Amino acid sequence: MVITCRELTELATDKKEGVLSGMDRLGIRVHLSWCTRCRTYLEQMDLAVDALAALPDEAATDEVVSDLVSRFESKKRTPSE
Ligand SMILES: [Zn+2]
Repeated sequence: MVITCRELTELATDKKEGVLSGMDRLGIRVHLSWCTRCRTYLEQMDLAVDALAALPDEAATDEVVSDLVSRFESKKRTPSE
């Protein structure tokens, strides 16, 4: 299964929510095995989410975390989408 960089970005949010199918997971793993750009992107997103999770509860609400994830998402999307 081959997925594009854009598909990976879209799947990344699902991955956070733990709702990916086995095929999606396989596609992500294969993609990350050769695509440095997406690997860096996911690492940065993980780091940012982990950093937020380490904050006191009142600072790291679900809202803050999902806002951060959507900001990462919109960064990867073209304005026309
Ligand atoms: Zn990629």
